[in-house]
Amino acid sequence: MIKTLKAFDLEGKNILMRVDFNVPVMNQKVINNFRIKAVIPTILTCIQSGASITLISHLGRPNGIKDENLSLIGVGEELASLLEMPIKFSNNPISTDAIDTSLSLKSGEIHLLENLRFNSAEKSNDPVFSTQLARHGQVYINDAFGTAHRSHASNVGVVRSFKHYGIGWLMDKELNFLQRFMTHPKAPLTLILGGAKIDSKLGLIDQFLSKADYIIIGGGMAFTFLKAKGKEIGGSLVDDTMIQTAKNIINKARVQNVKLLLPEDVICGKNLEDNNPKGPYKINSIPKDLMGLDIGPDTLSSYNSILGKSQTIVWNGPMGVFEKKGFESGTREMGIHLVSCIANGSKVIVGGGDTASALENFNLLDEMTHVSTGGGASLELLSGNQLPALKVLEN
Ligand code: AMP
Repeated sequence: MIKTLKAFDLEGKNILMRVDFNVPVMNQKVINNFRIKAVIPTILTCIQSGASITLISHLGRPNGIKDENLSLIGVGEELASLLEMPIKFSNNPISTDAIDTSLSLKSGEIHLLENLRFNSAEKSNDPVFSTQLARHGQVYINDAFGTAHRSHASNVGVVRSFKHYGIGWLMDKELNFLQRFMTHPKAPLTLILGGAKIDSKLGLIDQFLSKADYIIIGGGMAFTFLKAKGKEIGGSLVDDTMIQTAKNIINKARVQNVKLLLPEDVICGKNLEDNNPKGPYKINSIPKDLMGLDIGPDTLSSYNSILGKSQTIVWNGPMGVFEKKGFESGTREMGIHLVSCIANGSKVIVGGGDTASALENFNLLDEMTHVSTGGGASLELLSGNQLPALKVLEN
């Protein structure tokens, strides 16, 4: 069992809280505060209970080197404005000054430490570094779902120095939707798969082959499946190393009685930079010099009719190159249709990452039942794997 905030007497305690402030920033200004807002309920519970908080996070991939562009200073400013209160900030997370600041925080005060990945000891889960981090608090709370599939100093190593540890509300919510809820999903269950790469989603496919009613596939990965079925796919993206894997998945779906659907038609472009959508073309009639960059209208309508009769829907990966105008409509129209499915009682769980970015572009993010804050972590959890940062918090 993992403890939630309810299990602790927080009054007067210093809390060391791992959060996921890995947000897009430009010139130290936050461009998207989705992940910052997501931990506000946990922060509020702690400060309203009379605790003080030291927040720790990483931002981007500085590879152990200080990089002003990846400083958490801008994140601290954004958090201060969201909470309408000042936030203390320390440049060196393991300096005596920083630790003294944490230990002298008054009830309700917040202290943010600089990007942990400016020190390579964070990613290598260095025991000296994690022991130093642990000196910031008496209770450890992890609310960083987005990094829970990694074993780093701030989310795994640090725990051994604490007697009291648990998870925040965001982590609890993610577990509710991606794990507890998925243990007994209401049927029919449909997995929507998209994006470019198959290999990162094999675990997910495997898991759903034994419990889904439908798997519908779009995005670049669909062409590897179509080629595996002997279809002509023009110049579309294909991963030749995955053809046999795709054949095995198609066969397994047949044996397990899972309906696996592939696009019937596609919108094409000359290359990934093309701004001129062409088609729709039926699969088998895609010209050799064109590649499929979005699902076509016939595909959308048959996919949407399956979604209309599904009670539980898990969505991982866009239907096309949603970043480009002209190739975004398959993903957008599917998102709009899912809003009506939700209105009719279906639950739609979005696995974060690119699908969440796409929905955000279309202003549909808040309409879904649950959008995970962690692409990689949600993929692991939905694939039935244990997350190392949660395993260490088990009692
Ligand atoms: P992934 O990281 O595997 O989920 O892939 C996400 C990326 O797949 C997005 O950036 C999309 O632009 C890209 N994508 C979606 N559909 C296609 C397609 N038909 N051809 C090439 N790339 C695609």
